Parts: sequence; structure tokens; C-alpha cells
Amino acid sequence: MAVTDLESLPVETPRSVYVHVPFCRHRCGYCNFTLVAGRDYLIADYLKAIELELNKIKTPLEVDTIYLGGGTPSRLPPQDLQTLLNLLDNKFRLAEGGEFTMEANPDDIPGEIDVVIRDSAINRISLGIQSFSLPKLRSLDRDHDLSQIDRAVDSVRQIVDRFSIDLIFAAPHDSHSIWREDLSRGVASGATHISTYELTFEKGTLFWNRKRRKQIHSPPEELCVTYYNTAIEHLSESGFVHYEISSFAKLNQRSRHNQVYWNGQPYWAFGPGASGFVNGERYTNHRAVKRYLKQVLNGQSAIEESRLLTGQETAIDQIVFGLRLIEGIDLCQFEQQTGYRLKDLVPAESLSAWAEAELLTLDKNRLRLTSRGILFADTICSQISMSEPADAQATLPKPPDS
Ligand code: SF4
Repeated sequence: MAVTDLESLPVETPRSVYVHVPFCRHRCGYCNFTLVAGRDYLIADYLKAIELELNKIKTPLEVDTIYLGGGTPSRLPPQDLQTLLNLLDNKFRLAEGGEFTMEANPDDIPGEIDVVIRDSAINRISLGIQSFSLPKLRSLDRDHDLSQIDRAVDSVRQIVDRFSIDLIFAAPHDSHSIWREDLSRGVASGATHISTYELTFEKGTLFWNRKRRKQIHSPPEELCVTYYNTAIEHLSESGFVHYEISSFAKLNQRSRHNQVYWNGQPYWAFGPGASGFVNGERYTNHRAVKRYLKQVLNGQSAIEESRLLTGQETAIDQIVFGLRLIEGIDLCQFEQQTGYRLKDLVPAESLSAWAEAELLTLDKNRLRLTSRGILFADTICSQISMSEPADAQATLPKPPDS
């Protein structure tokens, strides 16, 4: 059913790199990321493993974006961060105007690490502030306080021109006035990019267990929607463009790296639990950090699972990721890139049901979620992922107030 045969489309060499740094001081109660808490003695082995993993890059490549995520990359002692940067520098050259982001926690900056960052190619920092309210930070198990945030922001502004902050809403003991204050202070910090996340209770986390025991509660769905809409309103009025479900940017300050994911482009990934997309194959490295280290240091593959996607799966992924963008998907471009038409992939009945419910619009060949549809993005996208076009039935997601 494809318009063209995907096999005949050129395979793109990735121009983006993600490196996962799995070290944290302690594990925050809501966090289910791949990490080791309070086990910095593993850093030396981690760096050796990254060096071995990077050996799959035979000749240095030019890339447009590099992202050091975690965990907490700023947790690395300065000399170890320098070693990691040198290893990357041996394999990847950042193109002129490229973007190199590093995640940092406010309790690590300022410090000796500032010099390493300033002298490196890192030109964007993503600061995990989460909130400007001390009780809210403590309810989230975060260590930093308000003076650390102020010092970190001052320091970051001196090191890089572009910085992003993360803010969480719907935390235990959150309130509308705290959330408004978080947004105001986030704007006042001078951040060029703000990501807002609803606190989620992931299976296996401390918070998930506490919630099961009714020790903490998530706010009602309507309140979460209000928090989210407040963020859109407040940040839009403050000069930020809402360009992705959770992301807001000043002019020309969108995350180039994250757009690679949302546009379905390929990228390399290194480190425990890191997922990459190369030559049509999605792969994920071992998530258990010790297992990852053992594998790689013993000369075995870092990869725990991988799958070569069919052309149809690649195209469906592109719709699912692309719908996260507020401007949606240009269907002409989509057809050219994937060789598929929307109607080959998503049942017409589903599309019309979502359009009738004002969750999704198709206008001037652009498919996008409406502001109401964004609230149902996960449900819509999981239905698209499971689509069987020949006999799929349109089913409407359940609204939160029904
Ligand atoms: S600092 Fe970030 S990555 Fe580390 S445990 Fe807390 S939420 Fe997770």
C-alpha cells in the first residue's frame, strides 16, 4: 500500500547523539529513569564502557546535536566530565551552529564543573529546577533549595546563552498559586526554554507504592488540566511559543535535539538504558547499569533489545511522534519521507471520529491535535500505534469528566 517502496528511500546517517549518564545523589521518589544512586564508584567503569561503545563509530562524524542526559550529567566530577567530553570529541564533530545540551541539577552548579562546561562545546544547559517552592521540592524528594536555584541560574547564564528549565505540576501539596509562582519565576529566570511535566506515578517507584497505600494522592484530572492550561496561557503571554505538548520556547530557542525525535529522524544513543534509531533499527541498551557495564566491559554488546522496523512501523512512529508537535504533521512531507499515505495507516473511521469530537484537525494537508486533543494525546497515539487499517474501528478516548 506504500506510495513508494521504502527500501528505495535513502538511509539517513544520524546527525544526532544521545549519551545517558546514569549517576544521581539519590533516587527521587517519582523517578523511574535508568540510574544508580550514591554509587559514584562506578563512574570509572562507566567511562570505559562508553569508550568501548563509541568504538562502533569508526571515523569521526559531523553531527548537528549532542545531548547529555541522565540521571544527572552534572553529578560527574569535573575531570570525569572532561574525559567523557574528550571521548565524544574523538568521534563526533559538532557542525557549525550545532546544539550541544547538557542536563544539570541546581545543586551541582556553580562549582569547578563550570570551567569544564565553559571550555567545552556545550552551548545549552537544561536545568532540573522542578519548582521554586521549597515544600513542593521536598515533596518531590528534590535536594536543592531556593538559594541554590538562584546561584545555579546566575552561573548558567554566564556559561551559556541558551538554557532550559524543567517544571513539574500536580505534585503532592501542589496548588494553583504555587504553580503560578513556579511559572512566573521560571519566566523571570531568563530561561530561553521551559518544559512542563505533570507528575506521573510510574510502576515500581516509591511514589507509586505510596499512592497504592493511599499515603499520597494525585490531584483530580480536571485540576491537572487546569494546571496545564495555566502553563500554556502564562507562558504564551510571556513570549514563549508552545511548540510541543510539554515544551515552550522563546523565538528560535526550540530544542533542536528533541525535534529529531519528534520528526522521526535517526540518532545514535550510548550509555545504559539509552535508546537509539539507526538504519531503520530501534535499539535499547541494557537498562540495569551493572548489567550494562558487565556486558560492555566483557566485550559484549551494550544492546538489550533491537528491532528493524518495517516501513509501515517507521511511518506510524512518525505520526505518533509528530503529533506531539503543536504544528502537527505536514502530510506531503510525510509521504515523501516515509512512502506512506495517512489513509494507508490510520483507519478513516478513527480519523473522522476524532475530527468530529474536535480532537484532531486536518487542514491544508496538515494533521494536528486540537488543544482538546492534546489532553488525549496518549490515548490517540496508542490507538494509532495499534491501528490495523483494514478492519480497525474508531473508538473515542474517554473524556476526563465522564
Ligand atoms: S535527579 Fe532526576 S534523574 Fe536523578 S533521581 Fe531525581 S528525578 Fe531521577
